[in-house]
Amino acid sequence: MEFSIFFIIGTFVGSFFNVVIYRLPRDESVIRPRSHCPNCKNSIPFYRNIPIISFIIQLGKCAHCKKRISIQYPAVELINGLLWGWAFSSLPFSEAITVSLFCSILVSISWIDSRIYMIPLDLIIVGAIIIILSIIFGVLSLDQALLGIVAGVFFPGLMMGLTWLVTRRQGMGFGDLQLGLILGAWLGPILMILTLFLASLLGLIAWILISIFKGIDRNRPLPFAPYLTFSAISIFIVSNYSTTLIDHLIMV
Ligand SMILES: [Zn+2]
Repeated sequence: MEFSIFFIIGTFVGSFFNVVIYRLPRDESVIRPRSHCPNCKNSIPFYRNIPIISFIIQLGKCAHCKKRISIQYPAVELINGLLWGWAFSSLPFSEAITVSLFCSILVSISWIDSRIYMIPLDLIIVGAIIIILSIIFGVLSLDQALLGIVAGVFFPGLMMGLTWLVTRRQGMGFGDLQLGLILGAWLGPILMILTLFLASLLGLIAWILISIFKGIDRNRPLPFAPYLTFSAISIFIVSNYSTTLIDHLIMV
């Protein structure tokens, strides 16, 4: 029951963040004007703006101009719905609020990074505010957060430095370090190190697959935020079920 209610709330949150993903990189207000089709500019009435359902009913096309609507819209709504549903049915209420909002921010950061290879500082700051509130309200421990920040910034920074020394290329961007900072504060040092391992592995696999299909291009940018976010959220969820595994890793 809790899952269904917060799944629905999460899809509406996702609908709002779709607007953020579209407008933030364009420096447009995320509040005004009302939602409109990017192609024909017709505003979308509330009854045609129901998350996921409107997309299905309209077969993924604008009701006016029939232009295809990006799969981003239902995908972001569905991902947010699942994350919110999971958080509120699995975590204590105060933690569920901060975790679900934080995850929505992470999903938006990833989506923007995968499209324009940039991590907006505005969203990092909102994420940092959520972390600070979590610490103030005792959802996160300050010690773990500080150690996590060290892990989340030091290791990617080290990799960036080594990449630059060897290839004279930047590799990751400073946005990835900022993302590492808020992820580390959220996850603590152990989960953050696991996240970095998994994200690097997934990024490497993706790079190999893309190179196989599109040919090797050393200048092709690879957004790292989607891999970091996917790894962080997956590891956070798994850690909630298998504390024994994490305990074991800490003991070792
Ligand atoms: Zn249209």
